Amino acid sequence: MKDTMIQQLMTEPKKITFREVPVPKPGPDQVLVKIKKIGICGSDIHVFHGTHPYTSYPVTQGHEVSAQVEAVGEYVPDIKPGERVTIEPQVFCGRCYPCLHGKYNLCEKLKVMGFQTTGTASEYFAVDSSKVTKLPDGLTYSEGAMIEPLSVAVHAAKRFPDLKGANTVVLGCGPIGILLIQSLKALGAAHVLATDISDTRLALAKELGADWVVNTMKEDYAKAVLDAYGPDKADVVYECAGSDITMDQAIQNARKGSTIILVAVFGKMANVDLAKLNDSELDLNTSMMYRHEDYVDAIRLVDEGKIKLGPLQSAHFAFADYQKAYEYIDNNRETTMKVLIDVDPTEE
Ligand SMILES: [Zn+2]
Ligand SMILES: [Zn+2]
Repeated sequence: MKDTMIQQLMTEPKKITFREVPVPKPGPDQVLVKIKKIGICGSDIHVFHGTHPYTSYPVTQGHEVSAQVEAVGEYVPDIKPGERVTIEPQVFCGRCYPCLHGKYNLCEKLKVMGFQTTGTASEYFAVDSSKVTKLPDGLTYSEGAMIEPLSVAVHAAKRFPDLKGANTVVLGCGPIGILLIQSLKALGAAHVLATDISDTRLALAKELGADWVVNTMKEDYAKAVLDAYGPDKADVVYECAGSDITMDQAIQNARKGSTIILVAVFGKMANVDLAKLNDSELDLNTSMMYRHEDYVDAIRLVDEGKIKLGPLQSAHFAFADYQKAYEYIDNNRETTMKVLIDVDPTEE
């Protein structure tokens, strides 16, 4: 193995460089992996544009990742060189109240690789073994790199406890919305009504399991809910668009006493009708990242064929073309779901 490796470094917004650094040595409880694929998501795009509120430069990106184990530290009993893995990018303290009560995704000092700590966009990466999850043989490395965003959707789906047989709505069919539609169906929801303002995205939503799709630029949302579910409307509405318009659609058209789950990240202070929220005694719930059990479920659902990740792969770029990947995304906003970086071009 080489002594040095190439590492991506965004020195300032819209400027991606590469540097040569030593290959890290795994600590006693760490795993050294050879990176295969990295996915780019909406948060990465905010970093690229300089609009991510919690990231400073320079930063090495990469938090959606698949890899192969190269070496393991002496205290790692169950992971072996050659195994195929993905990584949970959350870095947490382990000592605060949420951490000590199993909710490390809500750590008071939470950091995420690729944003507040060094990300995985390098040829090799050393990581704590507790953050490593094995991939079954049935998953490609490209699918492995999409387990992180899928886990966001799986965690969000499970924030509604009575999913079996539920009538659901997903507002917004970006990558997380599309993954959420599939997760809801895979976890037992009876129906999904999906909305967006892009027919391209809605076509994919329909292909991947939405029972009804509605372009709310052309059709009335209130009528669409009644047409699908009748006067009882939906049991739960997932807001995946992050806009006042969709949040207000959710509140104004919810069945009294039903649930709204906020999945999207709002870029600004929301302006919504809290009086109506109260008047309808709606349960407003939220969802933040994921925990290990969500990774386990996400991997299982893909392995069982219940969730399809292939149709979300919009384009692949070579590691050296990281910058071009962002330019492609900027030029193809509406049609782009997931862009992957082939850090190791020999793998699928
Ligand atoms: Zn992401
Ligand atoms: Zn903590």
